[in-house]
Amino acid sequence: MKECEVYRNLKDGIVQCLACHHFCTVRPGESGKCGIRRNFRGKLYLAVYGKAAAVHIDPIEKKPLYHFLPGEGILSIGTVGCNFRCQFCQNWEISQLREFNVDPITGETDTFIGYDWPPEKLVETAERYGVRLLAYTYNEPTVWIEYAHDTAYLAVRKGFRNVFVSSGFETHHSWKYMEGLLHGINIDLKGFTEKFYRDITGTRLKPVLENIEYLGSRIWPSIWLEVTTLIIEGYNDSEDELRGIAKFLASINPDIPWHITAAHPDYKMLHINYTSHETLIKAYEIGKEEGLKFVYVGNVYDPERSSTYCPRCGALLIKREWYRVVEMWKKRGECHKCGERVPGVWE
Ligand code: SF4
Repeated sequence: MKECEVYRNLKDGIVQCLACHHFCTVRPGESGKCGIRRNFRGKLYLAVYGKAAAVHIDPIEKKPLYHFLPGEGILSIGTVGCNFRCQFCQNWEISQLREFNVDPITGETDTFIGYDWPPEKLVETAERYGVRLLAYTYNEPTVWIEYAHDTAYLAVRKGFRNVFVSSGFETHHSWKYMEGLLHGINIDLKGFTEKFYRDITGTRLKPVLENIEYLGSRIWPSIWLEVTTLIIEGYNDSEDELRGIAKFLASINPDIPWHITAAHPDYKMLHINYTSHETLIKAYEIGKEEGLKFVYVGNVYDPERSSTYCPRCGALLIKREWYRVVEMWKKRGECHKCGERVPGVWE
């Protein structure tokens, strides 16, 4: 447990967290909506500081990031707790854990909330395994931003790079706090209606759109942005909604890669279908029709639609199968046929 930095004091021991767009006001003894930022004696503490619930080395394609050092391994870290309550969450065992015992004297808990992974150990582990990328992922990293910040800071000092896999609910306080430490981000744009966000995720769409706009219109490569939409049939797969997303992204920057991924029954949505390949192909076509240059299909076997092509001449540049790169391009960052530069972080 460590005192948070992204919050402010109100009165009578009440504090306000500034890390995400819930802007929770938290009374002594209580915690914010994420469950892991807790007011203990008038100060806000991060219960999971130095406690990761999941640490793995994944291919970066699994985040998914396809235009960021393709084929590299990335040390991926997540904790318990989350500011979203997505009914379809695929990591719900950790993300939806919020209630745990807290000792009223020390503020510590005896409930299992993660293994001991202080920032130094995470960065040392990356180094030991020859990995130069770290991902803050699995649950929403903004809710454990002080832990992510301190790890990212040490990583940058080693010359490593950091990426967030986020639901996009950050505040400008969070962006400022992470300034200079983040190199890439994948934001989940989970739907395109306030109703979907309210009913299915317990949050709001508007701040997510504002954050995508904010990151997408900055001069790249300050923070490289890719966007993912998990398609849930009957919930967010109408033509209007998919076209709305594609148009929105293309209006910000047609170079933003859009990942369309298949959902499966999980957590509170055990009644949904596995997203059909046809639905994904429909979304893929819509993305292309609306002018997005890089659209990718994920969570299904579709090498054709998960590979990268030259946006000018159509030459195959990077071939993928599932999350594996099976053919790397001949000239890094550009088309070997027509010389077109491909946007992304390549070295
Ligand atoms: S990070 Fe947690 S405590 Fe802070 S505003 Fe968001 S949900 Fe509330």
